[in-house]
Amino acid sequence: MPVSARLLGRRILAVELDDLRVVVEPGVTNLAVSRAVAPTHFYPPDPSSQIVCSIGGNVPENSGGAHCHKYGFTTNYVIGLELVLTDGEVLRLARDDPGYDLPGAFVGSEGTLGVATRITLRVTPAPEHMLTLVAFFEHTAQAAEAVTAIVSAGIVPGAIEMMDRLSIQAAEAATGAGYRLDAGAALIVELDGPELECSARFDQVRDMCAQARARDIRIAGSEAKRALIWRTRKAAFAAMGRVAPACYAQDGVIPRTRLAEVLGRIDELASEYQLQVDPAGACNPGVFFGGI
Ligand SMILES: Cc1cc2nc3c(=O)[nH]c(=O)nc-3n(C[C@H](O)[C@H](O)[C@H](O)COP(=O)(O)OP(=O)(O)OC[C@H]3O[C@@H](n4cnc5c(N)ncnc54)[C@H](O)[C@@H]3O)c2cc1C
Repeated sequence: MPVSARLLGRRILAVELDDLRVVVEPGVTNLAVSRAVAPTHFYPPDPSSQIVCSIGGNVPENSGGAHCHKYGFTTNYVIGLELVLTDGEVLRLARDDPGYDLPGAFVGSEGTLGVATRITLRVTPAPEHMLTLVAFFEHTAQAAEAVTAIVSAGIVPGAIEMMDRLSIQAAEAATGAGYRLDAGAALIVELDGPELECSARFDQVRDMCAQARARDIRIAGSEAKRALIWRTRKAAFAAMGRVAPACYAQDGVIPRTRLAEVLGRIDELASEYQLQVDPAGACNPGVFFGGI
């Protein structure tokens, strides 16, 4: 088959749950992979653009998402690649080939090393139990304090994300999920795993949010509520179009223990220079802000 036709491929070629893997063409969307293996399994790397972005694009970008703090990035899930190099040579690589980790070199290479025409992905069994909360704070710095407390206590959320005032208002207008419009920050924390452990840890997370002065903590009481919480978070970037016709996005890496201080300083600079800045925008404080 000519390479050009393969590049447009959007087929899921195999779902082999006993082997915890799927084989896809590059045009398959990220969300389609999770849907293909649900409800017993899931595909953790979930960029907010997952409805539209392709696995072919995720691989060269090494995409992560809300789950990457616990589950890792695309590179942790690519186990095989079929590639076409610039001279037309077709290569088939597997993660367990002896020698150099060539699939590892390809993931994150920004499309500079060749074109992926077939991708084998690892998927993971769905967790036994999930608990999700949204804590609303006056300031992003308080939400950041809660993140520091949670992570430094050794709790590893299945997903953790923060939104600030502008993101909350824009995303809420898009989805009507019931996020508090008077809040300066919303922290979404999801724990997953064995039910007993999850419940015990969840109580601790709730206490930590309260100690960081959360003024309202809402727990998703159903799968529909949980899905709505995440849909709102994932709508945040696109919803920025409601705030301004153009926006300039930057990712930052900040030591987790300095999060509160940095977010506070960005707020000060924004008001000094009369800029609409969305410092926590919609971010993954476990990873984008994860100091090593
Ligand atoms: C609204 C929004 C939210 C996002 N949120 C997150 C997030 O939470 N976390 C995160 O990590 N990232 C996030 N991203 C970035 C996201 O990971 C990338 O934009 C996405 O992976 C690119 O996929 P795409 O299908 O749009 O690829 P494209 O943008 O079309 O391509 C991306 C790159 O991949 C190359 N490419 C495409 N197909 C192939 C192929 N078959 N073989 C080789 N190279 C190829 C292209 O040449 C290009 O260099 C977000 C992006 C947006 C727009």
